[in-house]
Amino acid sequence: MSTFFATPSALLGWLKSVSSDNRVVAPKKKGSVVLFKPWTTEELGACQDASELLIRSTMSAKEVVFPKCETLYELKATKDPSDLSKLHQELIVPNNATATVLFGARPCDARGFLCLDMPYLQGPVVDPYYKAHRDALVIVTQACSNALPTCFCNWIGSNPADEKGSDIIFTPIEGGFVLSALTEKGTALLAKGGFDAADDAKNTAVSEAQAKAKSQLPAESTLKDIPQKVYARFNDEAFWNKEIEKCLSCGACTFLCPTCQCFTMTDKGNQLDGKRMRSWDGCMASHFTLEASGHNPRPSRGMRYRNRLGHKFSYGRKDGDFSCVGCGRCIRSCPAHLDIRTVLSNACEGAQKKGEE
Ligand code: SF4
Ligand code: SF4
Repeated sequence: MSTFFATPSALLGWLKSVSSDNRVVAPKKKGSVVLFKPWTTEELGACQDASELLIRSTMSAKEVVFPKCETLYELKATKDPSDLSKLHQELIVPNNATATVLFGARPCDARGFLCLDMPYLQGPVVDPYYKAHRDALVIVTQACSNALPTCFCNWIGSNPADEKGSDIIFTPIEGGFVLSALTEKGTALLAKGGFDAADDAKNTAVSEAQAKAKSQLPAESTLKDIPQKVYARFNDEAFWNKEIEKCLSCGACTFLCPTCQCFTMTDKGNQLDGKRMRSWDGCMASHFTLEASGHNPRPSRGMRYRNRLGHKFSYGRKDGDFSCVGCGRCIRSCPAHLDIRTVLSNACEGAQKKGEE
């Protein structure tokens, strides 16, 4: 694979030129949190320090393909002046997709998009809104130089330099960055940088940086048969309620998660002037499964977390991959200090004992 070297100023120059015909979305500090936000050409031109775009984000980047709130269509109607019992109706389907370069996502973020593809692209119906966003997206991923204590991508078969899901991957080294294209989209975008090939010394520095990040991860998981064991726990309500008794049902874990994909629909206006919107929702909220009759099939926090864990590690997988990418965001931001790794380990441990009896 060809590798290229960019100094920090060359990297910023490349992004600035890319921003003339793309929306560039990258980490941006907002108070105490870091969000993936658009950077304008002016902001990129004024930026003196490329590391501003490299900070680890609090929120995932999923908003670039799955907006927090998206108008699916608008309905406009006018009365026929010659016959007021008739309406002229117009259905307006907006084109919400914009050519987007997502810069500075981490390998776990890039894998997260593959999880989102499952329901929106690979189910019986392709979601046209999601597909338009996805087709317009190029993912430029930063291999991690360090791992946080909450990172556990190695538990799910990934690593800090995983290429899965990315179009370009780059590794920060002394003096700059080593980049390589992984797809046709990535090759076309990288060619615009006009970067020189990376020499052997720089490629060696990449291997060393990646090995250092890997060494900071927690020990490999020794859990076996996770999908089966989590599923074996399905009807053990006492287990789930005890594990999750600290949960506040705030839903932060679902909103921060790069792979959580649930939504709700809202209609606004009336039949003469209205619109239908899709917005994020989450299975940890008590009203998520509340039915019109008042019945709630997941009435407790334990039952809701059972669904979250089950979907990530048991019945929501595809081709053997978990629907959790081990980013650790839900651990870092949970106000009740719940750790999905602990619940997963306890669920498997309990199932093991059950099987042994
Ligand atoms: S972030 Fe923590 S407290 Fe909030 S819903 Fe998730 S598990 Fe419960
Ligand atoms: S469940 Fe937690 S660790 Fe897994 S992908 Fe979602 S936020 Fe990251």
